[in-house]
Amino acid sequence: MAQVSDLASLQDFDDVIARLEGELAEARTELEDDDALVAARGSVAGAEERCAGLEREQRRLEGEIDGLVARVEREEGRLYDGSVSLPKELATLQQEIASLRSRLSNVEDTELELLDSLEEAEAAREEARAALGREQAAWSEKRERLGSVVKRIEGEVTATTAERDACRGRISAPLVAQYEDLRRRRSGVAVAHMQGNTCTACRVSVPPSARKRALDPETPALCPNCERILVGF
Ligand SMILES: [Zn+2]
Repeated sequence: MAQVSDLASLQDFDDVIARLEGELAEARTELEDDDALVAARGSVAGAEERCAGLEREQRRLEGEIDGLVARVEREEGRLYDGSVSLPKELATLQQEIASLRSRLSNVEDTELELLDSLEEAEAAREEARAALGREQAAWSEKRERLGSVVKRIEGEVTATTAERDACRGRISAPLVAQYEDLRRRRSGVAVAHMQGNTCTACRVSVPPSARKRALDPETPALCPNCERILVGF
């Protein structure tokens, strides 16, 4: 058995699995990212709160207007029903009515301004609701798309892991142990190839004796610099 080429294949499988797992983690992170949706919901809640506040204020002003109208009617009734006849009292009553009418006019102006604000707030609420609708549609689309991406990658990881395990089964236990130990100590890369005279992992030139050993497919040779298993064929 060509143990060294199996080791090289094992490294290739592990590289593929590491890449797939990276992609899987990325897709899962993106899948969980609902910041835009949460922000859109927050905008709707804020816009609804503003409308509700303005509507409450409008009802309060309406009540105030109703009260003032009733008082003006009552006082004007007194003006003409003959219950007040002294000129001084009449003058006071007329002043009182003028003052009530002035307050009424102010409150009505305030209500008109408030209605303008309410109209703007309602438009903003509609816009926020529409934006939330778009965000929810995008979220569903994203979930569906990334859901199938995750499923596909999970399938690839399972298949590649089975191939990797079969490959590892062909390699002697001490060599597998050496490989796993190197992977732990060398950032996941236990097997390096030769590119000309250079080790592809550490980019250091390999002396001729080690290059010669690296050509033997049965006995693993180590790079004298980074100590990875060197494959020279
Ligand atoms: Zn090296």
